[in-house]
Amino acid sequence: MIYDIKNISFRYYPNQKTILKDVSFTIEKGQILSILGPNGAGKSTLLNCMKNLITPFIGEILLCGKNIKKMSMKEIAGLVGYVPQNHNPSFGFKVFDFVLMGRAPVIKAYNRPGLKDMEAAWSALESLNITYLSDKPYTEISGGEMQQALIARSIVCKPKVLLFDEPTAHLDYGNQINVLRLIKKLSKDGYSIVITTHNPDHAMLLGGSAAVLDKDGHMRTGSTSAILKENLLNEVYNTDLKIIDIPELSRSACIPAKL
Ligand code: ADP
Repeated sequence: MIYDIKNISFRYYPNQKTILKDVSFTIEKGQILSILGPNGAGKSTLLNCMKNLITPFIGEILLCGKNIKKMSMKEIAGLVGYVPQNHNPSFGFKVFDFVLMGRAPVIKAYNRPGLKDMEAAWSALESLNITYLSDKPYTEISGGEMQQALIARSIVCKPKVLLFDEPTAHLDYGNQINVLRLIKKLSKDGYSIVITTHNPDHAMLLGGSAAVLDKDGHMRTGSTSAILKENLLNEVYNTDLKIIDIPELSRSACIPAKL
């Protein structure tokens, strides 16, 4: 088992609202978990707990069988890759160097990246078919290419699990689907995937499991087909959503009923 999240509750300050209440789930090798929930429900907070940046006041998180509180940040960074939302870069590193910087958790203090690190960076670019970007400044590539470079950086240490925080935000429709396709490929390559998304249909396309976090901090988890039901989604998003079967695609889709 990669992650075992055991009954965690989290709040930012004592006497303030509890953001996560008694949240439990597990992540196995190669599993995809899509986390949905309205704005402010606590999805990013949960990812930050899973990276040990913040600590639940109840419950525990085991990563590869070890209590995350007893692990160093370096050890965690070697096991957990993180892909943030597309961001505005301020410095035009070459894409290759940007990906190489992802090796920081495995490079000894005061050492420069060596041949092994360069090979790992190249291999990450190769596995995403983006070696053609290697010499381009990170500031001069498109949003879709930046997201691919961020994903390459997240796998450069060969972690066990990848956490994606709304990876399709800010991308055009075609690039959103490209990123989902990449995520599916990474899970087939053996990476466990946790992704937060605002789009229930993305969770349905990815398959695997889904978790829905409500405004009160409760989380429901199960297979995407069992969890993503109209009544739960309508309640959580306060909108009339329909789940329709598309036999010719052998899948269901989630769409708004009307405006
Ligand atoms: P989501 O990712 O689901 O939109 P977040 O995890 O960002 O939600 O936020 C959950 C709640 O925690 C929100 O009410 C937000 O205002 C609050 N919150 C987020 N970060 C902090 C922080 N650093 N300090 C205090 N409250 C925070």
